Amino acid sequence: MEFNTKLIHGGTSIDETTGGMSVPIHMATTFQQKKIGESKYDYSRSGNPTREAVEELIADLEGGDAGLAFASGSAAINAIFSLFSAGDHFVVGNDVYGGTFRLIDGVLKRFGMTFTVVDTRDLSAVEQAITAKTKAIYLETPTNPLLRVTDIEAVAQIARQHDLLSIIDNTFSSPYIQRPLEFGVDIVIHSASKYLGGHSDVIGGLVVAKGDKLAEDLKYLQNAIGGILSPHDSWLLQRGMKTLGLRMRAHLQNAEAVFNYLSKQQLVSKIYYPGDPDNPDFNTAKKQMNGFGGMISFELQEGLDPKEFVEQLQVITVAESLGAVESLIEIPALMTHGSIPREIRLTNGIQDELIRLSVGVEDINDLLADLEQSFNHLKGN
Ligand SMILES: *Cc1c(COP(=O)(O)O)cnc(C)c1O
Repeated sequence: MEFNTKLIHGGTSIDETTGGMSVPIHMATTFQQKKIGESKYDYSRSGNPTREAVEELIADLEGGDAGLAFASGSAAINAIFSLFSAGDHFVVGNDVYGGTFRLIDGVLKRFGMTFTVVDTRDLSAVEQAITAKTKAIYLETPTNPLLRVTDIEAVAQIARQHDLLSIIDNTFSSPYIQRPLEFGVDIVIHSASKYLGGHSDVIGGLVVAKGDKLAEDLKYLQNAIGGILSPHDSWLLQRGMKTLGLRMRAHLQNAEAVFNYLSKQQLVSKIYYPGDPDNPDFNTAKKQMNGFGGMISFELQEGLDPKEFVEQLQVITVAESLGAVESLIEIPALMTHGSIPREIRLTNGIQDELIRLSVGVEDINDLLADLEQSFNHLKGN
């Protein structure tokens, strides 16, 4: 089955008892055991038919052996790190999601885990960071908000050579654009609150594991820790995922048009977009991504106020988050990355003038006209 067909027919998509074209929302917390110990489900935290439908779907889409649904992307990431123990060391990308940084810095370190942060595009830096205690390499590609692209296959190979797990947060791409397990990665995680849900109306996390042992261990942790996705949210997520292909094609097309527009805009000094042929990561992106994603970041010329620019927009909405049908824009230094100290932010390349745009699926003419009127506003006319 091709990917776009899997989106519709993958996992369980039809209700087995009625033939309904939508999997029912099974709210039951417990299930009758006519013969004790022989029923398929016993308690909903351990297994729920609605949640299982979306878990099977994401496993199919990413090409893994098991899918697991959590109450948020953050709960999913926490469950993954629960595979490890005090004293374990990790190599982590230097541009990971702010919440992941918070989980590492504010929680996991207290449990005795240690972390070395590197630019994972630099493969020798990744290798050099590995110690005798290292257990996994954890990264995002493209990263947030600078959209840096790491060679997935190369990192997965380094991990294998050193007997480490490779873990990739695939939120920014969705499986439509890139499937890390196909490049030898062990675990993929998603904040399903972004492209997979796609409509800014469900917070969820998905994990896909390769190999029966990892699948079993993660299922154990999902049940033991209990941060599961609710039946209603599971249903909502699967409903959203059915149109992922349609949405992604529109996101990709619109993002490319926005990139072309911004490239000619004189008030823009720098653009971060993996599809930019001048971007140093362009060839890596081309190799492993099916399209360059729907995210673009850019800087205004020095002295221009990014706040004034985004607040002038009428169609594009100022908000955190990304990956939904509507275009969302934000200023990382003031919003998503505001909790990172300014010096660290600047060292990581996140300037105060940086603007991050999640290009939605609106009519492109309205998006470009909106950007144009806001640039004109900055120019004072
Ligand atoms: C949003 C996000 C998360 C966290 O997911 P939640 O569903 O908000 O908990 C993790 N990683 C990335 C890349 C994200 O964008």
